[in-house]
Amino acid sequence: MAKDIFGCNLRELQELFAPYKLPRFRARQVAEWMYQKGVHHFEEMTNLPKALRPQLDAAFTIQQPVCRDRLDSIDGRTSKFLLAFADGTAVETVLMRQPYGNSVCVSTQAGCNMGCAFCASTVHGMARNLTTGEMLAQVIYINDALREAGEGKVDTLVIMGSGEPLMNYEAVVAFLRLLHEPYVLGMGYRNITLSTSGIVPSMLLLAEEGMPISLSVSLHAPNQELRSQIMPINRKYPLADVIAAAKNYAEKTGRRVTYEYILIDRLNDGEAQARELVKLLRGQLCSVNLIPINPVKERNLLRPGRMRIDWFEGYLRQHGLTVTVRREMGKDIQAACGQLRNKHLQEQ
Ligand code: SAH
Repeated sequence: MAKDIFGCNLRELQELFAPYKLPRFRARQVAEWMYQKGVHHFEEMTNLPKALRPQLDAAFTIQQPVCRDRLDSIDGRTSKFLLAFADGTAVETVLMRQPYGNSVCVSTQAGCNMGCAFCASTVHGMARNLTTGEMLAQVIYINDALREAGEGKVDTLVIMGSGEPLMNYEAVVAFLRLLHEPYVLGMGYRNITLSTSGIVPSMLLLAEEGMPISLSVSLHAPNQELRSQIMPINRKYPLADVIAAAKNYAEKTGRRVTYEYILIDRLNDGEAQARELVKLLRGQLCSVNLIPINPVKERNLLRPGRMRIDWFEGYLRQHGLTVTVRREMGKDIQAACGQLRNKHLQEQ
């Protein structure tokens, strides 16, 4: 079977092309066609020698995902895509047209096995890790669509879709390095945010990669007991170690860490939790992002009322924490991770 080269970096392409005795710059030309110009057949790569093109087409393929479903929010700012890969595995990718540019939310696994109580992605467990090429394909798919529509390019990236990125560490790091390459998108590491449920050993490794991406940590509770109840992974990697690893990341990279805190009615949004959270985080180079829960059909957790959300935010701010409340986007298109995929799994 022909080898798929989508997701290869320059060095890998050069190795694959070595038997064809090509000068090294051919690899860069091919990369620019597939990553920047939306071309998936060598025949259309007009700066390659004509005789070479059918040989390469016979030996290699350049896979691209197929869009199985697409939902656009009524306000036109959010679009959600269900993208299927060669083996039929489908994942969700979201485009958010923000005031500061086009932001894409990518998935790193098909499904997830972290088992968080609030999350739709984990309802059917994890099917498999995505490859570097499949993660990149989500971004390039949207970048191509934006370019063709005259809407610019992908400006920022959040790794907050389905899956736990740090459980797919090598493929994710290779994906981030590719995004940064000038023959891909030349994206600055500072425009990339990775969110983790707190895989401590991988957080420590990430701090040493020399890749100053922004780190978000899914906290969701201010103490060991409640966090374990909401996030089972907290039994393996306890809260105190997660906080220490986040501090280490901030020190090593000079980047402020963001703690995500989903507000769930009467579970983690009370005065006691607000007080504990302040004690836990005060003095750290960090900010807190409060996220009123997107209720998920399979889960019986509710969004707090407006007054409770405002009170929680106000309390943290008055006690010296930097805090934001996440603006909701795409509530009308099931933009909580995993909701669209679950719908399709049920229909099958
Ligand atoms: N596994 C990683 C990344 C995927 S989840 C992590 O845990 O961080 C990323 C974020 O999605 C969560 O922190 C949370 O902010 C958000 N999220 C997931 N389910 C949600 C829901 N039902 N409502 C609101 N936000 C949700």
